[in-house]
Amino acid sequence: MAILQFLGATREVTGSAYLLTTSRSTVLLECGMHQGGRDADQANLADFPFQTTDLDAVILSHAHLDHSGLLPKLVKQGYQGPVFMTRATYNLIDIMLHDAAFLEMKDCEWENKQRRRAGKTLLEPLYTEQDVDAALKLREVIDYHQPVNIAPDIELQFYDAGHILGSTIVELSVKDARESRRIVFSGDLGNTHHPLLKDPDILTRADYLLLESTYGDRNHRDYDETVEEFCQALQEAADAGGNVMIPSFAVGRTQEVLFWLGKFYRQGRLKQRQIFLDSPMAIAASELYFHYLHLFNDEDAQAFRDNVKHQWEDWLPDLNCTHTTEESMQINTISGGAIIIAGSGMCTGGRIRHHLKNNLWKNNSHLIIVGFQAIGTLGRALVDGAQQVNILGHEVAVRATLHTLGGFSAHADQQQLLEWAGHFATPRPELYLVHGELDKMLALQEQFHQHYQWHAHIPSYREKIKL
Ligand SMILES: [Zn+2]
Repeated sequence: MAILQFLGATREVTGSAYLLTTSRSTVLLECGMHQGGRDADQANLADFPFQTTDLDAVILSHAHLDHSGLLPKLVKQGYQGPVFMTRATYNLIDIMLHDAAFLEMKDCEWENKQRRRAGKTLLEPLYTEQDVDAALKLREVIDYHQPVNIAPDIELQFYDAGHILGSTIVELSVKDARESRRIVFSGDLGNTHHPLLKDPDILTRADYLLLESTYGDRNHRDYDETVEEFCQALQEAADAGGNVMIPSFAVGRTQEVLFWLGKFYRQGRLKQRQIFLDSPMAIAASELYFHYLHLFNDEDAQAFRDNVKHQWEDWLPDLNCTHTTEESMQINTISGGAIIIAGSGMCTGGRIRHHLKNNLWKNNSHLIIVGFQAIGTLGRALVDGAQQVNILGHEVAVRATLHTLGGFSAHADQQQLLEWAGHFATPRPELYLVHGELDKMLALQEQFHQHYQWHAHIPSYREKIKL
């Protein structure tokens, strides 16, 4: 008998972690960071609810920090075993975990400055870049569709989730002398309209299915319409003569934006001649994509093979990748006609804040929102129509034209989730909804009832199920 315990992303979207315990092995699926607010900081600091040294293996479905971000902490606290992931995931977490450790150290330094003054005890960072290096050394890279024994009684197989580069659907087969049980975890399931990546692999057999439900309550806006809106917003901005700012997540959305800018350029519809990718992390992640053309969908892979040698500048000739702070500051001297893509995706940090400070107050500036903006972030305040915002200690009037594009998403929507899960053969697997807010899960649960008369469980934190 085996037990699966839900240790994160229950009725919420961050902190993914699931513990599988059999009579012979213990495996941790995902080691995600909690994100968003003070509660998340506390959750990240809390002890793991298991002994790190009891684990035989760790599996990461993909590189996003809410699935991988606590791995260095796990290693800092004694885990020394293998960490299974795809090669692209390894390359991406190399960039992302180092960035996370750097930010963690900066935050800690700032906080300790105040604490020292107040005579309080100093904080230690969650983990350091050395812990990241130690964690990366434990990687065991495996390909899609290659079954691998990761413990005496557990076999792992990765399938393509089509969510970001290297992302996987995880299949685990638990075998003992009498029987075998198959668990499928959807990971973050991709949007079938996403360019570059392939559509999620279809699986048909499982005894247990863990399904993400980020967009369990709704369908995305039409993708083609969103692309058209994007093109029109850029043309409007070019006619107005101002700069365009696009806050963007470094992995996934940035490459989607670059892809479409290149398409518009090739169609003769892109008027701007100065385009800046102003984020060292996004530049590094974007360069990685060219090592993985074989993971692209056939059509886009062919377009890239025909037009691109080694870099995004081949696809989008007016692109400038600005690595240094000096290069980034140079962009401020451009009074109009530029497109600036920078992080962070929700305007909570990074170089985009400097560009917003310099451009938001100008009538001819345009701000194009291409991603989700959580409550409490600067990005959300702008989307909600703030007239005045505080950026880096400065009061800034919002005079720029704002475009919010609703159709770009790296996640499957309600209909895509239902369709994908609907491929599982009857008798249906036991279904558990994870990685979603409760109202989204309830809406999706209702849909599973209506479409398939299939009951979806909504597990709570620390709940255990017997397999
Ligand atoms: Zn993800």
